[in-house]
Amino acid sequence: MNGSPATGSLPPGFADHHTVLTVLPQRERPSAHPLGSVPAGWRGVSSLYIHMPFCSHKCHYCDFYSLVDTRDRQAAFVDRLTRELEGVAPWFAGTPLRTVFVGGGTPSLLRIDLWERVLGLLHRRFDTRAIASGEGEFTVECNPESASGGLMDVLAAGGVNRVSIGAQSFEVRHLRTLERRHDPENVARAVEAARRAGIARQSVDLIFGVPGQTLGEWARDVERAIALGTTHLSCYALTYEPNTAMTARMRRGEFESIDEESEAEMMVWTAARLREAGLARYEVSNFAAPGAECRHNLAYWRQAQWIGVGPSAASHVLDPTGGSRRWRNVPRLDDYLGSDGALGPVVDAEEPDPRRLLAERLMTGVRIAEGVDAARVMAEARSISGESPDRLAECASRLVQQGWLDAGDGRWRPTDAGFLFADRMARDLMAALG
Ligand code: SF4
Repeated sequence: MNGSPATGSLPPGFADHHTVLTVLPQRERPSAHPLGSVPAGWRGVSSLYIHMPFCSHKCHYCDFYSLVDTRDRQAAFVDRLTRELEGVAPWFAGTPLRTVFVGGGTPSLLRIDLWERVLGLLHRRFDTRAIASGEGEFTVECNPESASGGLMDVLAAGGVNRVSIGAQSFEVRHLRTLERRHDPENVARAVEAARRAGIARQSVDLIFGVPGQTLGEWARDVERAIALGTTHLSCYALTYEPNTAMTARMRRGEFESIDEESEAEMMVWTAARLREAGLARYEVSNFAAPGAECRHNLAYWRQAQWIGVGPSAASHVLDPTGGSRRWRNVPRLDDYLGSDGALGPVVDAEEPDPRRLLAERLMTGVRIAEGVDAARVMAEARSISGESPDRLAECASRLVQQGWLDAGDGRWRPTDAGFLFADRMARDLMAALG
């Protein structure tokens, strides 16, 4: 819900907290549910994503699956979600939940009584002790206008210990351009409501590169976000996804996107200012105080296993035979509600492919400050191709010479300059894999 459009020139479908970390085909392919083909003894998932698709308005830059519900389907959605959660629970058996992330859509639009049902079920059917102790992380995305004190109390009582608040901008003019309708003053109220309820961690999402935005205006947005005192900020560059209304309007000449230099200038300024404010960049678009990084998103970027429930939610499990299985639920509420059985209706299931898994590790690895284990990447590349991965080694050393990659401590990590070119580095390294 918070936009998270910072996917730069990554392929369509490569969205961060919305869990789709793969190059998805343009057309949906209905698939048998992949959990049916995973060996019976296999378990060990500890991250859960829940997609709640409802929004009060469809923002015209957004390509996440969300809808304005004119038919009062929230209760039916929670009935179906309950069935799906029951269906996937065995895959979490014996493993404490380490991270839960509820995104959308606008999860804070779900009625409080329905929230109570979802939270109750999670505690009944999953091992939530790590979350209750604070070792685990439970995040809910909230829109500033629907993050009421009453909702925050219910979320806190249900174990939620982190909220991500979609501010996007504090300038009404830019919010209008994005078609975000909240009052900027409500961002501080939402943060305060979360704190009062005892939700320990808050994050704020901002978008930069809005048409007509200057560096000075962006700097004011960042300063206002810093002044809220949250320990996590996400700063996403506005991107024009192929099928959004905003992209169509830009193509019709209704406005111009800002130029690349201005966008790069905003990015560089942001990283320097947030570092000064004690928020280190740990991913291209994400900044946190020490220990306040989003553990759920880190699980994605480190290629951990997660299962997503709800329409359009993606899942990723490591296959015992090597590679990983990915799939996503059908991105249509009516199809989701009308589906039989417990597990969700699935499209675009991918067969395990160790080469794809490695390519994706490179793609995400150059976007996170911790980078990737170079020796492990080289060993896997060798084992996949059966020969010495010389092109990959040459590509990495060229990126080091260019000053984009740091190869100290046996890892390949993006440098400050490298963060600006993460997509290009990813493309080069993936091409060098052969
Ligand atoms: S609030 Fe706007 S950006 Fe967020 S999911 Fe809904 S339509 Fe998309």
